[in-house]
Amino acid sequence: MLFADIVYQGKRVQEWPEEARPTFNNQNTDKPSFLLTRTPVTQNKSHYAAPKGKIYSLTLLVDFSDKPAPVTVKEVEEWLNKEGFNKDGCNGSVRDYYLDVSNGQLDLTNEVFGWYRAKHPKSWYENLKDYTGSDSLMKEVFNYFDPLVDFSRYDNDKDGTTEAINIVYAGAGQTWGQGLWPHSGWSSEKRDGVRLTHHQMTDMPGKFSIYVFVHESGHMIFGWPDLYWYGDYCTMGNRANDLNPVAINDFYRADQGWIPFVDVTSNDVSLETTKPNEVCYRYKNAARPDKEGLVWSYVRNTGRNKVLKGSGLLMQHYDFSIDGNSASNKLTLRVVHANAAGKSNDNVADQWPNPGSDANAFFKSGTYSEFSDDKYPAIRWYNGSQTGLKITDIGTPSETLTFCIGGNCSADAPSSSSSSAPKQETSSSSVEITVQKIALEATLPISDNYAPVILDLNGSEVAKILGIKRTEIEDKVEFYGVEPNGTLNSRTTGEGTGHWFDADGKIVAWDVNGSSIVFSNMDLTTMTTKIGHMPNKVKAGNTFTVRQAVVYGSKQVTFEIKVTIEGGTTIIRNIEKARRGKPGNMIFNALGKPVGKRNANGTLPDLPKGIYVEMVK
Ligand SMILES: [Zn+2]
Repeated sequence: MLFADIVYQGKRVQEWPEEARPTFNNQNTDKPSFLLTRTPVTQNKSHYAAPKGKIYSLTLLVDFSDKPAPVTVKEVEEWLNKEGFNKDGCNGSVRDYYLDVSNGQLDLTNEVFGWYRAKHPKSWYENLKDYTGSDSLMKEVFNYFDPLVDFSRYDNDKDGTTEAINIVYAGAGQTWGQGLWPHSGWSSEKRDGVRLTHHQMTDMPGKFSIYVFVHESGHMIFGWPDLYWYGDYCTMGNRANDLNPVAINDFYRADQGWIPFVDVTSNDVSLETTKPNEVCYRYKNAARPDKEGLVWSYVRNTGRNKVLKGSGLLMQHYDFSIDGNSASNKLTLRVVHANAAGKSNDNVADQWPNPGSDANAFFKSGTYSEFSDDKYPAIRWYNGSQTGLKITDIGTPSETLTFCIGGNCSADAPSSSSSSAPKQETSSSSVEITVQKIALEATLPISDNYAPVILDLNGSEVAKILGIKRTEIEDKVEFYGVEPNGTLNSRTTGEGTGHWFDADGKIVAWDVNGSSIVFSNMDLTTMTTKIGHMPNKVKAGNTFTVRQAVVYGSKQVTFEIKVTIEGGTTIIRNIEKARRGKPGNMIFNALGKPVGKRNANGTLPDLPKGIYVEMVK
């Protein structure tokens, strides 16, 4: 196996030292040039550099008298940028890769110049000590292209340093750790008023593949480290497939804001259903919430993850206070193998020195369907204390995967603890506004006269988040509708502080012949909202998600309201709140087993705390 290293001041390192880490200032950039978000950006402050939108990267081509250019400039441009590029079996271009793994939020566009014929033959550079041949070639290439290239164009965030410069040379790399061996490099060169700090050098033997370019861009643009002792589960981990390299791991993707984090606490009880590429669940060490935690997500071996040998919940343990990934130390990021004892140095075959992946690393029904302190006694926080995380009833990987958080989703299990509080997640756009989400659910009867249901907006909790008194909310906050991409919309289209929404949750005007379907009219005095629907536009079982927000100072509370049209099933997460309902409705536990029905008054049967499904007549 071959790693392409990071080289800093002539030495190989596992990750950039503090002073050489890439940063990205999203404040200095214009708004992304195209609308990107398929999912809301929920990361408040990314650990790694987190560029968004269109990013320009520079590629400089160099060949040699003993190794002339094996491909044309146009072919290189296609390799890096062309949608659906498939020469030599590549799964898309480098740009396609990052568009995919970022859910369309990072458009990495390479501008290509060349070929420049180097002063010496390739063999001359290859035979110099360590990486001095690379340094020599780099300076030569920068000097040659200086009159032709405006380097400042590649300082996308205008912070004085470029984000991405690639030097692609003709021929194959020869000796690992010497000469022109592919690597990410650092320099103190300055041109056109900007520092050319991070670059990568990679080979072009004449056959196209995208792994090296994708991996080196990971070091260069985001500052991700090499994930030794990690296996094939991330492109920063290992080189499993050059043509269809594995995706970036879901923890890094969520750190970028490409998929949202869903924060889980020890008080949560919840039956979850999730899709691949949808969310990353995060459970922080309460004693060190900014540093350490467990994360997990549904990873399926299709598409960008096709090379993986299995599917299921993939769990990871991170600790940002640890530098690098070396098994002699604790790891900054490691996979919690479902089949392993869980020690940080467990000698499983898919870590090191022969990384790969293993179907039994994934949690799934039938083999490893539960994670808990009892089942995984070696998985502890790095200070030795137990994590307290419990995940049970992990289902069979298919289009979706279900699992239970808190270990009490089945009514058959003894009732032990914890009410299920409304789930919150910290989220934000790229500006410094802290966004908290309050998830709410409303079930609407089908109505021909706009009959609303009234939903409590948890005023006390909102006040606490905003740092004001409950009674001050009405006077102090600004009120918005929230578009599906997270944009705040100050126009109200409903009654008072209210909005109409279309089927996708976009804010629209009321129009009986138009797209308006659901309304939510908030009352900031009572902190409730009236929710209803347009007559003749909905069917039993329809669901819609609408969002509204209140903002005070730099804090935003987003109400995400899932509206279900009655007649299908309703999930009961809080027995107290669901005490009253329609008489005769059947109640099932979360595993689908009937546990009783509502009596003639509509009251629930006596049930232990947990998650239930109500079949609504
Ligand atoms: Zn690397």
